[in-house]
Amino acid sequence: MSTPSILILPGDGIGPEVMTEVRRIIDWFGDKRGLKFDVSEDLVGGAAYDAHGTPLTDATMARAQEVDAVLLGAVGGPKYDELDFAVKPERGLLRLRKEMDLYSNLRPAQCFDALADFSSLKREVVAGLDIMIIRELTSGIYFGEPRGIVKEGNERVGINTQRYTESEIARVARSAFELARKRGNRVCSMEKANVMESGVLWRQVVTEVHAAEYSDVELSHMYADAGAMQLTRWPKQFDVIVTDNLFGDMLSDLAAMLTGSLGMLPSASLGAPMANGRPKALYEPVHGSAPDIAGQGKANPCACILSFAMALRYSFDQGDEATRLENAVNAVLEQGVRTPDLLQREGVTPATTTEMGDAVLAALDASL
Ligand code: NAD
Repeated sequence: MSTPSILILPGDGIGPEVMTEVRRIIDWFGDKRGLKFDVSEDLVGGAAYDAHGTPLTDATMARAQEVDAVLLGAVGGPKYDELDFAVKPERGLLRLRKEMDLYSNLRPAQCFDALADFSSLKREVVAGLDIMIIRELTSGIYFGEPRGIVKEGNERVGINTQRYTESEIARVARSAFELARKRGNRVCSMEKANVMESGVLWRQVVTEVHAAEYSDVELSHMYADAGAMQLTRWPKQFDVIVTDNLFGDMLSDLAAMLTGSLGMLPSASLGAPMANGRPKALYEPVHGSAPDIAGQGKANPCACILSFAMALRYSFDQGDEATRLENAVNAVLEQGVRTPDLLQREGVTPATTTEMGDAVLAALDASL
C-alpha cells in the first residue's frame, strides 16, 4: 500500500497553535516508529476566506476527498462574525462534512485519572470512564424538509422535520457495531420510540442489522431521555452508544463534560469506505478557535493530539500506536504538566502549548 496521506487544515485562532504540536507528533511516529505519512497542509475557515474569499476552495475540497484522513484544527473568530452566512468560516467545515458524506460522528468520553477531579460528578463515577457516543451526522431533524418559519393565520409557525431512511439508520448502526467489536462489544441504541415514528423505525432497523450481521455484539435500547439520566447516574454502564443527529448532539456534549476540560476532547467523523478500504475521515478537536486565548501559548494541544490518536486507530489501523499516544498524554497529566485550562491551584506555573507538546514527545520517547 502507498504511503498514507493526511491533509492538515489548521484553520483559525488556536487551530494553528495546537496543530503545530500535532505535526511534531506525526514526525515522531515517522522517525521513531517507521510510520511515514504523506502530509500536506492547506487553509480552511477564516484563513481561507482571507486568502481566497471563500472558507474552503474547490481545490482544497478536492484534496480532502483524495487523502486518507483530514485533520482539522478549528475555524471561526470575531473578525468574521459580520460576514455573509455563505462565506462564514463554519461553512468550510460544513462543506467538508457534507461533501465527504461523514455520517458517523465519534465522540469519545474518556476520563484520564489525573483529571477525574475536574468533572462535576464524583470521582468514583467518572474515574476510568471510557465510552464512545456515535451520532448520526448527515440526516435527521437538522436536514429534514419541510422546514422554515411560515405564517398560519395570524401567527408564525416554526417547522422542522425529523426524517430517517432505513439505509441512513443501517449504515450508522453498522459503524457502531463495528466499533463495539474493537472495544467492549456492547451497543446501546437511543431514540424516542415511545413518541416518535422515526424512533420506532430506528429501533426496528438497528435490531434487524444486529440480528443479520452482528449477533455477537450485545445490543440494548434506551429512550434518549432515560439515556441522559443514566449517563449522569452511572456512565460506566455504557460502551458504545448510537443515536440520531439531534439526540447525539445533546448526549455527546453531556457525556463530554463528564470528563472535564474542552481542551481534552477529540472527535472523528467517518463516512463510507474508499477504494482502499479506509473510511472517508475527518478528525478534529471538539473545541473551537478560542479567540480569547489565541496567540498567547495558552491553548491545550491535547484534544488535537488525541484526534490524531483516533486517526491512527480508525484510519490507519494502528490501534497499538494510538494507545501509545493516549498513554503518553496520560503520563504527562500524571506528571502534573498542565496548560492553564487544567490548573486548579494558584501558584502552579502553567505549561505553554509548546511545553505540553514537548512533554508528550518526551513521554513518547520514554515509551520505547
Ligand atoms: P471555544 O471552544 O473556542 O472556546 C470556549 C472556551 O474554552 C474559551 O474560554 C476557550 O479559551 C476555551 N478553550 C477552548 N479550547 C481550548 C483549548 N484547546 N485549550 C484551552 N482552552 C480552550 O468556543 P467559543 O468561544 O464558543 O467559540 C469561539 C469561536 O470558535 C467561534 O467563532 C465559534 O464559531 C468557533 N467554533 C468552532 C468550532 C470548530 O471549528 N469545530 C467549534 C466550536 C466553536
